[in-house]
Amino acid sequence: MDDSDSLARNAARIICPACGNDKEFLEIADDVILTSRYEQNEDGSFSQLGDDSQVLGEIRLYCGECNADVSFFHQRFLDMLF
Ligand SMILES: [Zn+2]
Repeated sequence: MDDSDSLARNAARIICPACGNDKEFLEIADDVILTSRYEQNEDGSFSQLGDDSQVLGEIRLYCGECNADVSFFHQRFLDMLF
């Protein structure tokens, strides 16, 4: 990798405009219905079969350091989530 590659990568990083944090971010969802499906086993124990949770409200992104609302980065955050 040469210098121009690393510059392009840095330009795409999300950086909190309030405190400069570029490491930790919080994703917070409103109005979430948590639904988990379980199966009871022969011995009375349970195994989780699936997670059908739904987000009905808005999903917002916050800086993990100063809690500034950085939701305008949320789409980029999703694009960069692997
Ligand atoms: Zn911040």
